[in-house]
Amino acid sequence: MSAWTSTAEDTTNLERAAAEGIHCLPVPTPFGIGDVNCYLVEDDPLTLVDCGPNSGTALLALERGLAARGHAIEDVELLVVTHQHIDHCGLAHVFAARGHAEVACLDLFAPVLEDLDRHAARDDDDAQLLMQRHGVEDHVSEALRSVADVVRGYGAPSRVDRRLHDGSVLELRDRTLSVHHRPGHSPSDTILHDAERKLMFSGDHLLGGVSSNALISRPLDPAWDRTRPRTLVEYRASLTKTAAMDVELVLGGHRGPVTDHAALIGKRMASHERRAQDFHDKLAGGPLTAHEIATATWGSVAITQAFLTLSEVIGHLDLLAAEGAVVEDRSEHVIRFART
Ligand SMILES: [Zn+2]
Repeated sequence: MSAWTSTAEDTTNLERAAAEGIHCLPVPTPFGIGDVNCYLVEDDPLTLVDCGPNSGTALLALERGLAARGHAIEDVELLVVTHQHIDHCGLAHVFAARGHAEVACLDLFAPVLEDLDRHAARDDDDAQLLMQRHGVEDHVSEALRSVADVVRGYGAPSRVDRRLHDGSVLELRDRTLSVHHRPGHSPSDTILHDAERKLMFSGDHLLGGVSSNALISRPLDPAWDRTRPRTLVEYRASLTKTAAMDVELVLGGHRGPVTDHAALIGKRMASHERRAQDFHDKLAGGPLTAHEIATATWGSVAITQAFLTLSEVIGHLDLLAAEGAVVEDRSEHVIRFART
């Protein structure tokens, strides 16, 4: 699926991680991103960071990866899930049911993982409504809704044994991992920082070779005021916090490791600003819906990936709105954006 292949530098960096007892186990996903990286931490407890989607193919790959290190699913004692996307948490239920692993995730995410089907259905309802309000035709949003119903099978609810929060600490025999909440790519993005080794598990918060989308998603905070979440604004605030951390090796949920995280974050932020400017330029001819901007930018991809491209457009329009460069007209059922 993914054209990506690892480089010699990736291999060197993964060897650095392996020397610290951390082994990357790539697991296939049915999604365009390609493999998800699960990380086995050979410590006490035997720990796995992320577990892949809920599929037989993924489970087999994960079992083979564990077996190559002399372990089985039943040997894993702690599974930490970095965020709510099903390519990262889909197999958690297998560890909970078949193995002896404690399943750990962010406290805000725990009730969602425990009741994943209901939450996923609600997210799909939200997505459909968002598409309709931003100008996607009904027959397209309905077709995508059917696709979402199928995709949902790659997730599964799981028991959660340990609720982490921003500032939690995971004490393993040979290392200490501090937990930081970094919402933006998803509301539950969680990173694990080993300050002593200057190493981080970033989930999809920061990826090398591909930029993380700030997908629009229902906030998990019970105090949410029901306004539309400003996910790209939130993501940039999270990236700013991460840029300030003392880290030399970032192990992400996809693709190869990152060694220059602050420079990479600088690049990502600059590209957000360029893209926002591009969308601002597209509004020169008058007000447009977010879907019209997406279609003008990506053509038919704006239909097959309507939710993804809408998240992208709306996120960048939020940046422009925060600067006072764009306003949103919500007086009709379909929302339009205009220059100020
Ligand atoms: Zn992912």
